[in-house]
Amino acid sequence: MKTRRLGILGGTFDPIHDGHLEAGQAAKAALGLTDIVVVVSNLPPHRPQPFASSHHRFAMAAIAVAGRDRWRASDIELSVVTPSFTSNTLQRLHTGGWAPTDLFFIIGTDAFAEIESWKDYPAILTRTHFAVVSRPGFPVSTLPARLPGLAARMIAPGAPAPVAPAVFLIDAPTPDVSATTIRSRCAAAQSIDGLVPSGVRQHILQHALYSSSKRASPDASDDVSSRTTAGRLHGQD
Ligand code: ATP
Repeated sequence: MKTRRLGILGGTFDPIHDGHLEAGQAAKAALGLTDIVVVVSNLPPHRPQPFASSHHRFAMAAIAVAGRDRWRASDIELSVVTPSFTSNTLQRLHTGGWAPTDLFFIIGTDAFAEIESWKDYPAILTRTHFAVVSRPGFPVSTLPARLPGLAARMIAPGAPAPVAPAVFLIDAPTPDVSATTIRSRCAAAQSIDGLVPSGVRQHILQHALYSSSKRASPDASDDVSSRTTAGRLHGQD
């Protein structure tokens, strides 16, 4: 029986974009992952909140994976009231039967460079492999110098399968796009064609998600009380 190798693509996804999807695809191809799950994070109330609510961020992730073979969007971090920490999510996956060596946490070089500040560091390094994917301006080759204490764990995707969780370094030509750029372009009424899947673009525009700089409140849902929004909901103007 073929072993399942689960890629976990975690992030705020405010919104999900082609850079995220290409990073996931690059990790899937480089490491022979069988499945990818996009895990939308739930930020603690005391941290700056995302601009779109968790409901909209999850909706966009679900739209983005639609039709992608063996990709799923997960609400595992949204279905608990406590703030999301990757460490807790990994423990829930272990409880569900996943071995640490069958899990691959997919992450950009910029985010992995901050790993020492994560909850349960360094124990978290034993709970999953990390699949670190380059991002324009952040080649993976910078990581051994940035994190010298972890250099011995860093290996190339083609290396013999390690018995303990490792840090795989994957160079891939992911597009130069960020969620910040997309939000700014929306606020300036500029096109986001080619930066996000077309269904995600449609969802953003239809719900006017980033047309202002208002952030979501922790328990946010759409405000349908104003005439403007209610009118938009009913197709009026
Ligand atoms: P923001 O601009 O709001 O900071 P972001 O575009 O960096 O957002 P996140 O949701 O914070 O997106 O990122 C989730 C993960 O995806 C992180 O590990 C990040 O490094 C990675 N990532 C984001 N964009 C790219 C990209 N263009 N190429 C490769 N990895 C990326």
